[in-house]
Amino acid sequence: MTKCTFCGKNNKESHEILVGSSFYVCCESCKQNTEEYFEMDKKHKIKLYIFVFIASVSIIVSVFTSRMVFAYAAQLIFGGALIIFPYPVINSATLTTHSIKTVKLFCRLLGVFFIIWSIILLFSINI
Ligand SMILES: [Zn+2]
Repeated sequence: MTKCTFCGKNNKESHEILVGSSFYVCCESCKQNTEEYFEMDKKHKIKLYIFVFIASVSIIVSVFTSRMVFAYAAQLIFGGALIIFPYPVINSATLTTHSIKTVKLFCRLLGVFFIIWSIILLFSINI
């Protein structure tokens, strides 16, 4: 019994697909979603990394200027990037323990958390 790479369900019947490495999926829909995820990952992962880099530079600016607004902006940028580009999977081994659905959900929830937290902090500056 193998877990579906996309939805994470255990299935007796599974189909092996090849997207760089081989993965198991439970149905045609999951196969299509998995292939789409890897295609989007290939196209947009670099954008996630660029936004993470921009957020990192913003934190460094915050440290050197002693202005917290840059650190809060970094959180806002990082959160937004995680929501728009939920492609943090560095290697295929990650997908043996976590399904793509779980990874995307976790990314987006983390992104929402960072955005809400940064907005709260940004408003606390003016009070
Ligand atoms: Zn599935």
